[in-house]
Amino acid sequence: MAPLIEIYDTTLRDGSQAEGIAFSVADKLRIAERLDTFGVHYIEGGWPGSNPKDIEFFEQAKHRVFRHSRLAAFGSTRRKDVRVEEDEQVRLLIEAATPVVTIFGKTWLFHVREVLQTTPEENLAMVADTVRHLKANGRFVVYDAEHAFDGFKDDPEYALATWQAAERAGADVVTLCDTNGGSLPSEIVEVARAARAGLSARLGIHTHDDIGLGVANAIASLDAGVTHIQGTLNGYGERTGNCNLTSVMPILGFKCRLPSVPAESLAHLKELSQFLDETANVRPNPRLPWVGATAFSHKGGTHVNAVQKVIRSYEHIDPALIGNSRHVLISDLAGRSNIVMKARELGFEVTNTTPQLREMLNRIKDLEHQGYEFEAADGSLALLIRRVLTAAPPPFTVEAYHVSMRRDGDTSACEATVKVRVGAELAHTVADGDGPVNALDAALRAALVRFYRQIEHVRLTDYKVRIIDSTSGTAAKTRVLIDSSDGTSEWGTVGVSDNIIEASLQALVDSLEYALVKDVGARSAPARVATSM
Ligand SMILES: [Zn+2]
Repeated sequence: MAPLIEIYDTTLRDGSQAEGIAFSVADKLRIAERLDTFGVHYIEGGWPGSNPKDIEFFEQAKHRVFRHSRLAAFGSTRRKDVRVEEDEQVRLLIEAATPVVTIFGKTWLFHVREVLQTTPEENLAMVADTVRHLKANGRFVVYDAEHAFDGFKDDPEYALATWQAAERAGADVVTLCDTNGGSLPSEIVEVARAARAGLSARLGIHTHDDIGLGVANAIASLDAGVTHIQGTLNGYGERTGNCNLTSVMPILGFKCRLPSVPAESLAHLKELSQFLDETANVRPNPRLPWVGATAFSHKGGTHVNAVQKVIRSYEHIDPALIGNSRHVLISDLAGRSNIVMKARELGFEVTNTTPQLREMLNRIKDLEHQGYEFEAADGSLALLIRRVLTAAPPPFTVEAYHVSMRRDGDTSACEATVKVRVGAELAHTVADGDGPVNALDAALRAALVRFYRQIEHVRLTDYKVRIIDSTSGTAAKTRVLIDSSDGTSEWGTVGVSDNIIEASLQALVDSLEYALVKDVGARSAPARVATSM
């Protein structure tokens, strides 16, 4: 039987080193809870010796029950020339009271001499003393060998001696770290084979993505007998990031067919990935393999035609297996098939012979000619399709609006007024904002929330402006693209006008209208494509 490949998640420690990421203690607890539910084998919660926030995290984590994952505290070997019992940082590791403790130590002689400024012998003693002390305190010990690959290339004998020192002292896992992220898969395999031959403990790998090989290197190491992979969700991490577990886990499950996290969890992979981005307040990367919004997007007539006929002909795997869905991009290239696929994805029962198809196509081509773009505006496209297919009136209409801006000394203020009709009722609201679009958005929401409570959950996640036709000699047009989310799904909307405020209003109105009709549309549609979620 193939051995279990352990997943060791370090999103909360190495992942939080990424620029622009700052998790609160509450965020960390929520992420740990989700990782536990998902079923990763280890969750590295932080480095208690490096900051008070991580001490607080472990304090709170003591009151939590982890059902599938084992919590790990991270730290370093004892300082040089200090008894391990007297090392403050090691004491904090024990006080974190986690079942697992991971410590890193030096493999590379260059680092021992130049960075630690100590002798090769003292470094070996630092590794052994710390592992032994943690074992004596009843911990499962993961030893992270920093610069394992660079160190091995420099002096293979000494590198192996450091790993063996950890193993002899009782380390349960010895993890080879490509700390600088510059190794090739062939080098990873060669060094991991040497480690495998010289050690009997479980062998782990910790890679970084500096040359775009973080995931490839981790997967390559399996051939050398590695059975423990460290990484982060969505590849969060310093510089270009860590080995992306969001790719590693489905590769193990669907491509390598090796036992790892529970198979049923993989169907929630996209959800987990989105949850992390939401919590970190990071805009999701649409090009992320497996879970990205465009990972299963199709553009161009023949492709789409083929996908519709033989759904798997242009996909490496069924997107539903990782909780992702198929998207069809609409563009000038697209024919009927694109619209049919898109309409179905949105929950409408449409076939190649639906009579309204021609009208939809004409409207799309006409709007694209005016400067609209629907590839990132699935919300606006859905509304267009809905308008052609149903006679249902829109949930609201903006009858009038006014935006003003005033500057007083150093401060500027914007105010928007809107008159919105919902059925027979008219709402008239005023709001301030940081800018004209922000004020307009606030006024529109204030008017609509009285009728539709769900508007409270909708928020704008991105706002992009592009000037188009700027070389045609006529007045330049502005295209506004807005991304919105209600916490469970995301959609894009578009507006085009000579006037940036008008273009923004169109995109805003579409965003809120789509939020109100999207679930209704899906429920009334029996032929909804099964892969959408
Ligand atoms: Zn790292």
